[in-house]
Amino acid sequence: MLRKPLLLAARSTTCRKVVERTPMTRAMVTRFVAGATQEEALPAVRDLARDRYVTLDFLGEDTTDMSQATATVTAYQDLLAALGEAGLGDRAEVSVKLSAVGQFLNRDGEKIALENARAIAEAAKAIGTTVTLDMEDHTTTDSTLGILRELREDFPFVGAVLQAYLRRTEADCRDLSGAGSRVRLCKGAYDEPESVAFRDKHEVDKAYVRALRVLMEGEGYPMVASHDPRMVAIAGELAAANGRGADDYEYQMLYGIRDNEQVRLAAEGKRMRVYVPYGDEWYGYYMRRLAERPANVLFLARSLVTR
Ligand code: FAD
Repeated sequence: MLRKPLLLAARSTTCRKVVERTPMTRAMVTRFVAGATQEEALPAVRDLARDRYVTLDFLGEDTTDMSQATATVTAYQDLLAALGEAGLGDRAEVSVKLSAVGQFLNRDGEKIALENARAIAEAAKAIGTTVTLDMEDHTTTDSTLGILRELREDFPFVGAVLQAYLRRTEADCRDLSGAGSRVRLCKGAYDEPESVAFRDKHEVDKAYVRALRVLMEGEGYPMVASHDPRMVAIAGELAAANGRGADDYEYQMLYGIRDNEQVRLAAEGKRMRVYVPYGDEWYGYYMRRLAERPANVLFLARSLVTR
């Protein structure tokens, strides 16, 4: 019931101002966001990297300003250099939202996003790590996959997210299941119309398993991005059935969610990667996390009432 209004609020500037000004929000945000700056986030990364892998997201999306897109690229370049200096190139990669590097700019947005993503991929290559393109709402899927194709010609290590709730995803998984391809499969976090997406949770779960089966049967590298215990168990079964060893696929979860399960999987010798967001632009990311779990909203509401 709360999912749709929260996802609408995630894109409202008025709601953004209210939520950002609420003193309690800041404390809540730290559960999901590792820090406001790279310096604040890096200790969390070092800590996680002891038993897990990491992918870092410099928060930001829907950029309509060229200078902001350029600043985002610089932030990623600085981050990758710092990861290299800290010797974390084999443990940490980066996740990039193309809308944060110019995809929505009025003139030549796609071209600018491609060039900006290229600059980030170059910096990743320099420290021997990978880049994964996040997936935003369905109006961007074709554009993002087109940019992925172009990027992979020079940087074959670039991967992308596919969202199981989209009706097209099983076919996209087939297209991206070849050798060298890296696909992070998630359920999907945006409010999508019935015409393009499954909306019923059970349908989404079934679609996730179908898509995962395609990836596990393929020759690429599946990244199982889910906190759902059933999806985690099914991923293990599909990997074993397809003769995949512990290094031939990985589990991924978000920073601050099911930490014990992350530790358990890592201790079992599974590859477990944590998606670590940092930066000031946490609003959209945070609202999507609230939308995923009503208990998070109740917790926030209670803290507002009792403060
Ligand atoms: P669900 O059925 O939603 O949740 C299963 C269980 O996980 C819940 O019962 C609960 O215990 C726990 N859980 C799930 N969400 C929360 C939460 N917010 N707070 C507390 N507990 C929770 N979506 C996109 O659309 N594009 C992307 O690029 C993208 N990248 C992602 C990258 C990673 C590494 C991950 C893990 C997710 C990503 N997502 C992305 C979000 C994803 O689409 C889902 O919205 C989110 O992961 C919840 O789905 P679930 O598979 O965990 O299953």
